[in-house]
Amino acid sequence: MLGVDDRVVIERVEFDEEVDAVVAHVRPRGLNKRRCGRCGRRAPGYDQGEGRRRWRALDLGELRSFVEADAPRVACAVHGPTVIQVPWARHAAGHTRAFDDTVAWLAVHTSKTAIVELLRIAWATVGAIVARVVEEARNEVDPFDGLARIGIDEISYKRGQRYLTVVVDHDSGRLVWAAKGHDKATLNGFFDMLGESRCAQIKLVSADAAEWVSDVVTRRCENATICLDAFHLVRWVTDALDEVRRDTWNEARRAGMRTHARDLKGARYALWKNPEDLTARQEAKLAWVAKVNRRLYRAYLLKEQFRTIIAVKGARSLDMLDAWLRWAARSRIPAFIQVGRRIRKNRPGFEAALLHDLSNALIESTNTKIRLLTRIAYGFREPDHLIALALLDRGGHRPQLPSRTR
Ligand SMILES: [Zn+2]
Repeated sequence: MLGVDDRVVIERVEFDEEVDAVVAHVRPRGLNKRRCGRCGRRAPGYDQGEGRRRWRALDLGELRSFVEADAPRVACAVHGPTVIQVPWARHAAGHTRAFDDTVAWLAVHTSKTAIVELLRIAWATVGAIVARVVEEARNEVDPFDGLARIGIDEISYKRGQRYLTVVVDHDSGRLVWAAKGHDKATLNGFFDMLGESRCAQIKLVSADAAEWVSDVVTRRCENATICLDAFHLVRWVTDALDEVRRDTWNEARRAGMRTHARDLKGARYALWKNPEDLTARQEAKLAWVAKVNRRLYRAYLLKEQFRTIIAVKGARSLDMLDAWLRWAARSRIPAFIQVGRRIRKNRPGFEAALLHDLSNALIESTNTKIRLLTRIAYGFREPDHLIALALLDRGGHRPQLPSRTR
């Protein structure tokens, strides 16, 4: 009851009419073994702190309930005067441990509205609770243990005005770390936390072609190979194709070929889509492009061949890449000549991506989830609370409901 266990003595339970709630008066068993609330070290008593206080506990049926107890302070050798550790709540929390755990469980399983209404708490409070649950979980297990193949990416939130740098573990599939910002200082913060010996164990780092990432990784992880994210490169090529389509369309319009221009505009999806997903109409559209606009169709074939290279992977794909780069260079299509140069410039990272086959699916699904969470986390006071929610959901800290065994 009330999320207290046998380490706790229940002195009495009363109904407090003033606040319309059940209040359980409790004390920890063995008061002479007082411990610091922050580090758990035994420490001598200091004073009575702010006297008695209440922690919100899970409702009893439709009634609110609280745990009430003294909250004296001890003189911790490390932390100075600190409120004692209590078995029913996390340090500095206004809610019981069982309440916190229930909030954390609900936060990954249900909607914002459901949590706020069911538990009668503010959404900002949910953020703070999730943050302390995650902090505790990450103190118990080293989230950086055994990292060898990681992915680094940036995610925008608040309509692209703010960024998070995120790190995922390709082997466990987990989100390992995230922080505000997307620059060298932010990423250096991660490697500082990792420490030199664990940095040396990193073998592969997948990342997009952002220079700030590769600069930091090269400097901090002496044994790591950078794999460029193949998905980003496909996007470069797709963007090049779209540029060709737009140019072709503009030319047709300027030349007064109105119908032709309109038909070209409609060809956008036929050119974009993977051939196996085309509808009959889109197939016809593509055939039409092949007939009336050779240059646009060549650009389309270049895009498709590039996708094939990514799908083939391994040593054989490197020869295909050489052939593709030659093709792009003599294509007489400026957008593709340019994208070819860009790929040549980033070639080592791209080759690593083809040879090591680090799937981008993990980064993508993590990003999608975090973007979703940024919308949910709107109303949290701190971006740190958004990060905590993301770690709770994707970091392997999925909470259990209180008093349930796995
Ligand atoms: Zn302490």
